[in-house]
Formats: sequence, C-alpha cells, structure tokens
Amino acid sequence: MEPNPLKGQPALVTGANSGIGCAVAKALAAAGAPVVVNYVVDPAAADRVVDEIRSSGGQAMAIQADVGREDQVQSMYRKMFEAYGTIHILVNNAGLQRDAAFVEMTLHDWEFVLSVNLTGQFLCAREAAREFLRRGVAPEVSCAAGKILCMSSVHEVIPWAGHVNYAASKGGVMLLMKSLAQELAPHRIRVNSLCPGAIRTPINVSAWSTPEALANLLTLIPYGRVGDPEDIGRAAVWLASDASDYVNGTSLFIDGGMTLFPGFSTNG
Ligand code: NAD
Repeated sequence: MEPNPLKGQPALVTGANSGIGCAVAKALAAAGAPVVVNYVVDPAAADRVVDEIRSSGGQAMAIQADVGREDQVQSMYRKMFEAYGTIHILVNNAGLQRDAAFVEMTLHDWEFVLSVNLTGQFLCAREAAREFLRRGVAPEVSCAAGKILCMSSVHEVIPWAGHVNYAASKGGVMLLMKSLAQELAPHRIRVNSLCPGAIRTPINVSAWSTPEALANLLTLIPYGRVGDPEDIGRAAVWLASDASDYVNGTSLFIDGGMTLFPGFSTNG
C-alpha cells in the first residue's frame, strides 16, 4: 500500500478510548487520516489516545457521545464537521456485553446491548451516509464517496450460549451491513464488517487472564495465539483505503481460524 493511504480523509472511530477502537484510531491516524476519538465514559483515556496520535505526528480530537442516543450522535457529527469539514471513514466500533443465562437475562440486559451494538451502528452509519451523499466522491482523496466499517464479531455466525443479546446484536450487524452495502453501492459508498475472533482487550479479560482460561481459549484458535488489537487496526486501514476499492458487503474474519470449526480438526 502507498504511504499515507488515508491522507485527507477524516475518520470517526466510536468507542476509541479502549481496546480495538483505540488501536484502530491509531492505525488510521498513522495512515494519514485526521481521527475523531469517540468515547462515552473516561475522557482521560480518550485524551491519552489523542495525545499519543498527536505526538506521533497525526491529527486527532476526542468527542463524547453515547452512540445509542440520536441527539448525542448528531451533536458529535456537528462537532466533527466544524473541526474537520466532513467525514470519509466511519468505524462503528463501540460495543459491549451484558452476559447472563437466557432465563436469567433481564429485558434491560437485552435492550441495553441492542441499543449500543445495533442501534448505535444504525445511528452513526445514517449520519455518515447522509454526509457521503451530500458531498459525493472527492477524487483527490479516494475513489469512493465514503467507507463504513462495522465492528462485528465471529458471533455474527457462531451461536453463543449465555450471550444471546450479544450474538443477536452481531447477527443484526451482519444484515444491517449487507443491506446498507446493497443500498448505498450505487452512490460509491462501501460498507463492510470486521469480524474479530478473540482479541486481548478489557471486554474479555476473564477469557485470557488466567493460564487455565487461556489454554481453554486456545483450543478454539487453530493459529495458536490470541489476537492483538493491532491485528484489527491493520485490517481496518486496508478496508478503509482504495486498496480494497472493489470490496463491498463483506465480512472480513480476523480470528486466527476460530470460524474453521476447530473441533473437527481431529476427525470430528
Ligand atoms: P472494550 O470494552 O475495550 O471497548 C469497547 C468500547 O466501546 C469502549 O471504549 C466503551 O466505552 C465503548 N462504548 C460502550 N458503550 C458505548 C456507547 N454507548 N457509546 C460510545 N461508546 C461506547 O472492548 P473491545 O474488545 O475493544 O470491543 C470493541 C468492539 O469489538 C466491540 O464492538 C466488540 O463487540 C467487538 N469485538 C471484540 C472482540 C474481542 O475479542 N475483544 C471480539 C469480537 C468483537
């Protein structure tokens, strides 16, 4: 890929003050994009991400918004446009888990996860698409009018007992992404998903922080290692750049082979 493939393309990364979002924000900034680091809690963590990007020579600013709230999402976009003029890249990354056995799961656990993981992606994608349509293609920076990257999960296809709200939200993201890609493609807007497997972040500490949990997790990963947030950051740069210009409506699994049915590797 050419150096600075995202130069002149303002990007918004939701939930960028932690984990995967933080790594994606840094990777996009290193590729030349001015980046909005969205956060909902912990402004100090967002400021640290912004400082790190700036001290490496990149451009970044932090904006607070709860992605599940329409008024806050719209106000975030207004602030972004005042600072950077427009948006070329949205990374719909914010997400969370509220795990419970199905019969114990409260309506609040269900609605809360759906409101952040699915409604949040709808609200942020809609504002981005409105701006992409208004502006159209800016050929000096990209051959697409805009790119939307949805942070999905291997759980858009792997059922997950004890996490039905989360799995339903990611299954929803899959068809949100594909339907959007179909609807917006004639306007040269690309919409794709990144589907991480097990990535070492605060969301899943209990799955890798003890030797027993780690050994158990590794039985699910043919490639034999847990992923790092930077694995997702590198893929995000490619998917946001013109290097992937003919890729649209695709789920890119970044999972060390977790979706390869590893239970069958010894003849089932
Ligand atoms: P994380 O907990 O480190 O980061 C999640 C981020 O989302 C945090 O910054 C959090 O504050 C933010 N967030 C939560 N609710 C929000 C809201 N209402 N508005 C704005 N921001 C909000 O976890 P992570 O692992 O970095 O997760 C990032 C994304 O990757 C999520 O969508 C998650 O489902 C997905 N994912 C993670 C893994 C993994 O193994 N870590 C695997 C598959 C998918």
